[in-house]
Amino acid sequence: MPGRVLIVDDILPNIKLLEAKLTSEYYDVLSADNGPTAIKLAKSESPDLILLDVMMPEMDGFEVCERLKADPETHHIPVIMVTALSDTADRVRGLEAGADDFLSKPVRDTPLFARVRSLIRLKQLMDVWRVRETTSNRLGMPPTAVPPVLEAVPGRILLVDDSAIDSVAIGEALSAELHQLSRVESTDAAMEAIASRPFDLVLLALHIAAGDPLRLASLVRSHVDETVRSMPIVLMAEDDGDMAQIAKALDLGVSDYVMKPVDRQELIARVRTQIRRRRYQSRLRAHYETSITLATTDALTGVPNRHYFDTHIEQLFSRALESSKPLSIALCDADHFKRVNDTYGHAVGDEVLVELARRLGRNLRSLDLVARIGGEEFVVVMPDTPPSQALRIAERLRTKVSEEPFLVGDGMRLPVTTSIGVTSHSPQDVMAADLMKRADEAMYRAKRGGRNQVVGDFPAAVMKQAEGA
Ligand code: GH3
Ligand code: MG
Ligand code: MG
Repeated sequence: MPGRVLIVDDILPNIKLLEAKLTSEYYDVLSADNGPTAIKLAKSESPDLILLDVMMPEMDGFEVCERLKADPETHHIPVIMVTALSDTADRVRGLEAGADDFLSKPVRDTPLFARVRSLIRLKQLMDVWRVRETTSNRLGMPPTAVPPVLEAVPGRILLVDDSAIDSVAIGEALSAELHQLSRVESTDAAMEAIASRPFDLVLLALHIAAGDPLRLASLVRSHVDETVRSMPIVLMAEDDGDMAQIAKALDLGVSDYVMKPVDRQELIARVRTQIRRRRYQSRLRAHYETSITLATTDALTGVPNRHYFDTHIEQLFSRALESSKPLSIALCDADHFKRVNDTYGHAVGDEVLVELARRLGRNLRSLDLVARIGGEEFVVVMPDTPPSQALRIAERLRTKVSEEPFLVGDGMRLPVTTSIGVTSHSPQDVMAADLMKRADEAMYRAKRGGRNQVVGDFPAAVMKQAEGA
């Protein structure tokens, strides 16, 4: 899984030291010795993680971090602040600036690799969603607006700890941030609580008498329910003797850890970061799901749109090529539709299109699909359908449209007809577009032939195949 790490420090030996450690673990390392260069590299090289020194001349680490986190191009890249030994004020300022984590100098191996690994894993997970987000944006969806760092975040937190004293302090810190806290004293009780209602975060003590916290963490990460599986878990350890356990926990997918006795500001800041990140992730997901629906459905008629059709037909086309099963399409275009608009207005025209889509859809088999691919142009896709059957279906569609006038406006009865071009996949077709072109030409022949009719255009190879079948 190794990834690309950007090290930012104004002192060269510091860079060399971290670089040696990371390259020995096969990370791809970049470096910058000042803030502006770091920001430039973050944009051009899109690293998976940034290790950022706090004390630098010109622009300090806090400012660099704030800028990275305010920029939609870089706000998703995790930042670890590298601070002077145990300077709590610095740590909290870093987290406020949007840093995802921090390490103290001199940097020790276990915390370094633990943090690096877990943040890169998280980043790679988010990248999957960001790619989908980009696709949605290309399809015309507005972007998910606010970068995660700018939001307010009260959440529901489950505290798993049997120490009454610690719990009081934690409870006070978190309720000051308006979080709702529930507390259980064993991992079994925690599992029950998680199954019965949603939480935004679990705060998990490493040392408890009843149950194995790491087992709880792994049960959560492998839960069937995605919202449970992606729930942040913050581990509370006690001292450096816990480092091996912490590393194991992070490997299991625990999101972060703090040391007891918990520093109030640090806890608040870490919880805030985790909840923000989760909210961001679920927003990306929701946005993705709506955008898929919006991007593939025609808003007026509710049938699949051209975008969807283009992708779908490519798939069916390759399938037809491989399986040599017949694939037919019918292109239906409303006759003299412009007159409807001109005579009765656009709104009535819209009503006609809605009813037309409905009639086409209602008279198809469940395997077939109707899509709106132009203003008053629909395509019917019929998998596993030979020419003769496709012609029969098209004829039925034509009849179902023309035999009963459309009821539109205030009880107006409007006769509507369609011209339909039908064709089937031929072994000589190279692309789905070849098929479409033939259907289009057939449809125009139907127009020229007087409209309200079906015309088929089947290459000799198709007919031969159909007779053979
Ligand atoms: P033909 O029989 O040769 O197909 O004639 P036509 O009038 O149907 O064809 P033409 O392509 O000249 O006109 C199509 C019309 O469809 C023009 C356009 O304004 C109208 N149209 C396209 N999209 C919509 C829509 O969403 N709603 C409405 N009401 N009209 C639309
Ligand atoms: Mg038309
Ligand atoms: Mg047309």
